[in-house]
Amino acid sequence: RVTIRNATKRFGSLLAVNNVSLDVKPGQVILIIGPSGSGKSTLLRSINRLEYLSKGQIWIDQDSVTDPRTDIRLIREEVGMVFQNFHLFPHLTVLDNITMAPTTVKHIPKGEAQETARHLLERVGLADKADSYPDQLSGGQQQRVAIARALAMNPKVMLFDEPTSALDPEMIKEVLDVMMDLAKEGMTMLVVSHEMGFARAAADTVIFMDEGQIVETGSPKDIFENPREDRTKRFLEHIL
Ligand code: ATP
Ligand code: MG
Repeated sequence: RVTIRNATKRFGSLLAVNNVSLDVKPGQVILIIGPSGSGKSTLLRSINRLEYLSKGQIWIDQDSVTDPRTDIRLIREEVGMVFQNFHLFPHLTVLDNITMAPTTVKHIPKGEAQETARHLLERVGLADKADSYPDQLSGGQQQRVAIARALAMNPKVMLFDEPTSALDPEMIKEVLDVMMDLAKEGMTMLVVSHEMGFARAAADTVIFMDEGQIVETGSPKDIFENPREDRTKRFLEHIL
């Protein structure tokens, strides 16, 4: 469970996130949409403390992300994040990319971490790529490795920031399929994406953000077919 209360992030005089409160229940899949600069990435990045909030609080279950006394390693264990541009370690094999954090942060024995990594690679359809390097893989394959790497920490919540927007169209589906499987298996997920197929198939809730605030929240059907707010309607005209 993720609990966000009055999250506010300023960059100088700019309010990137403005008093956002949100509860993400276990197993819930929330899709965040909104125009460029509306604060979607900043909100996600605050959940694993890539950004420190200026005001407000965030908890993962009972652990406070925003309390500076909370060890960053605990947060890295509990929150998995997948970015637009994969961020794999280029000098490490796929297997070593996946075992890196579990062995160094969680001190899991290497053999055990490798076994888990192989299971995860199977799950994302890349069992045969364990010994490849990232630059030998397609974008879609790299992104699936990035998902496996995040899952290797056995996180309580997974954050996805536009995971398919750097991919060629033919690779988008293979990544969305992995995400949909995760959603079905009950993973708690916060996803920034404008992929309507994923939204309809996997999201329970859609949030529309604008100017750092949550403007409207509803089911995918509510938001896409019956938006209440003018700002939501105008935005949807651009993307649908
Ligand atoms: P996009 O759809 O383009 O990814 P976004 O909704 O993810 O946009 P954010 O990246 O969260 O938006 O940015 C919100 C606002 O905060 C923007 O105005 C952005 O320029 C600003 N911002 C983000 N990071 C920083 C930073 N490190 N320093 C200064 N301003 C920042
Ligand atoms: Mg962003």
